[in-house]
Amino acid sequence: MGTVVIIGGGSAGAPAARSLKKRLGAGHRVILVEKDERLVNRAALPFYAVGKRNEGQFTRSRSLLNRHGVELIAGEVVKIDRVKKKVRTAGEEMGYDLLLIAAGAEPEGIDLPEMEEQALDMQTFAGARKLRHVLPRFRGTEIAIVAASTRIKCPGSPYEYALLLEDWFCRRERRRDVSITLYTPEPAPLSMFGKKTSDAAAGLLLKRNIRFHPGYREGGIDVGSRTISAGNNRFPFDLLLYYAPTAPPPFIRESGLAGEAGWLQVDRHTMALPEDDSIFAAGDITEIRTPSGELLPKLGAVAHLQSFTAAANMAALMKGEQPDSAYSGFAG
Ligand SMILES: Cc1cc2nc3c(=O)[nH]c(=O)nc-3n(C[C@H](O)[C@H](O)[C@H](O)COP(=O)(O)OP(=O)(O)OC[C@H]3O[C@@H](n4cnc5c(N)ncnc54)[C@H](O)[C@@H]3O)c2cc1C
Repeated sequence: MGTVVIIGGGSAGAPAARSLKKRLGAGHRVILVEKDERLVNRAALPFYAVGKRNEGQFTRSRSLLNRHGVELIAGEVVKIDRVKKKVRTAGEEMGYDLLLIAAGAEPEGIDLPEMEEQALDMQTFAGARKLRHVLPRFRGTEIAIVAASTRIKCPGSPYEYALLLEDWFCRRERRRDVSITLYTPEPAPLSMFGKKTSDAAAGLLLKRNIRFHPGYREGGIDVGSRTISAGNNRFPFDLLLYYAPTAPPPFIRESGLAGEAGWLQVDRHTMALPEDDSIFAAGDITEIRTPSGELLPKLGAVAHLQSFTAAANMAALMKGEQPDSAYSGFAG
């Protein structure tokens, strides 16, 4: 009997675990290690923040991963020993024949302590919860949505927030009192998705009177004056919705697996690590360049598709077959 270990039970890890167990049956163990007690579908956060979803609709207990024959271990992985093929948490150590790393990415956080309720970390549940609380009491005029990097989770979500907020204020007949401005490092709205998408996004922002400042550079926020620099000007804000650059979990670097920028470099077809064919990775933790040189966006849809490629190839290897599944590069 062989053992597959999966780190992370999110958009990539959970479907991969189910798919692997289905393909491998009772002959092999599939172990999933997850650190958080509650799992959050972050795609729902913008809707939750504006009151269109309730917590129960997009969070679920980690214990639900313990189904379909998948064995759940509740704990945080702190190290991978590639030589001994072992994964270590604070309390346990488990051996693997094949390993799937699907531990995602987390925002580096906001370091603007003086602002408290006026600066919200929009990639987290806590940030969305704060916005849901702050919005009905908001009496300022300037809302700034700042993406500090293109290396954020779901590069479209700052735009989604802008449109949902616009709608929120329209419905309350307060739209004329509030201006909503997007600041991003992109040269044009959503330019990473190509000209057609970018033009459509720009048209939508114009129609809904949402301002857009391209070329934002990290560090452009001044807490003292509550202003943001864009080009040669500074613009005021009363409420800041912030997207920090993301980083992979520390155990990646500590296990000697990180590529140059800290992420896992995988073969973009098989999802295996080029230097170790017993380790696969999927989702936000990977860094994959398309043939045109663009980085693949950090999206649940991408994570989901990659997880099935990884699972198919891992199952083939476990059964002594030739792996032949290839990730198409599409996000669904
Ligand atoms: C506001 C917002 C809106 C979004 N909207 C969309 C959208 O509309 N469409 C879309 O496709 N994507 C969207 N996304 C992006 C999507 O949420 C992510 O791309 C997706 O969740 C990535 O999947 P993943 O499995 O790689 O990581 P995750 O889903 O984050 O899962 C990683 C899991 O690993 C666990 N983990 C981490 N470290 C360890 C460790 N050391 N030990 C054990 N467990 C660990 C974590 O607890 C987590 O459960 C959005 C993101 C945000 C923030």
